[in-house]
Amino acid sequence: MPATDPTAAAPLAPSSALPSGAAASVDPPVPTGVASGRPAGRPSAQVREVGLRDGLQSIAATVPTHRKMAWIAAAHAAGQREIEVGSFVPARLLPQLADTAEVLAFARTLPGLVASVLVPNLKGAERAIECGAHLMVVPLSASHAHSLANLRKTPDEVVAEVARIRAARDASGSRTLIEGGVGTAFGCTLQGDVAESEVLRLMQALLDAGADRVSLADTVGYADPQSVLRLFGKARARVGDRLACAHFHDTRGMGLANAYAAWQTGVARFDASLAGIGGCPHAPGASGNVATEDLAFMLERMGVDTGLDLPGLLALRERVRGWLDGETLHGTLWRAGLPKGGLVAHPEALAEPVSA
Ligand code: ZN
Repeated sequence: MPATDPTAAAPLAPSSALPSGAAASVDPPVPTGVASGRPAGRPSAQVREVGLRDGLQSIAATVPTHRKMAWIAAAHAAGQREIEVGSFVPARLLPQLADTAEVLAFARTLPGLVASVLVPNLKGAERAIECGAHLMVVPLSASHAHSLANLRKTPDEVVAEVARIRAARDASGSRTLIEGGVGTAFGCTLQGDVAESEVLRLMQALLDAGADRVSLADTVGYADPQSVLRLFGKARARVGDRLACAHFHDTRGMGLANAYAAWQTGVARFDASLAGIGGCPHAPGASGNVATEDLAFMLERMGVDTGLDLPGLLALRERVRGWLDGETLHGTLWRAGLPKGGLVAHPEALAEPVSA
């Protein structure tokens, strides 16, 4: 995650879609997301694709715009209803994402798709508003050292920037949602520990400054399921559903376990990247976010409705593999394939989140 380590994450729980008063600017995304034709009453979760941003920014090669569009179209066809399509950062910092405006314009044409971008500052936010993003994620690093190194601002300066972004959003009449993504929430490679109290303070400060919602991110893969239960539990107790997303990197193989722990606290929206692309600048060869297809499989196997077509995702993974020739991909479902007898193991026995 170079330059502006956009650690962040995103939005809100599946059926509740957009918070009241914050419908959509442009063509209101209606992330009903979730496929029909399934037994009523299943719990549901939203898997938010961040491969095109968190993934591609870590890969040296630039994927051409038309392929990004093909990726988004296929992900949408496979049921994905939230995609982070890029980042409004200077092209000299992240040339891989220089076409974000164009890709976003395309994503906005797909029905029911919530198209989001990452914005590191007011300038990026102004572009997101101008281009009609449904959601913008503003990353904040809870680690002071990481924040200075990656964003060149202290965490509290980022909070102040969010207040300016909120003012600009409101002044423009736009309804682009603002999500504060609290990164390095479980520690960081520069500073080591990051105090839970500091994470919670900054999360609350973002909301007070005008963020519509917040997410917590384990940017460098330091979290474990117990720490996730604890921190997400505390955060949810404090802000409820305004903590709207969990963002886990699988750097040390705990991505899925951590996602499960977050689910147990009531979080029903997760960032993920197809084939686990991405990485960590401090851990050469490490995977990126938890793999979209693996997370979708886990949830579906637990009886949670993701609205996702797993064979469709696996087919897309294969196409993306071809486009990223030479890159190490991650994930495990593609190796073993889907199990016999359908996805849900024990349909009657499933997965209500347990409040923690
Ligand atoms: Zn990330």
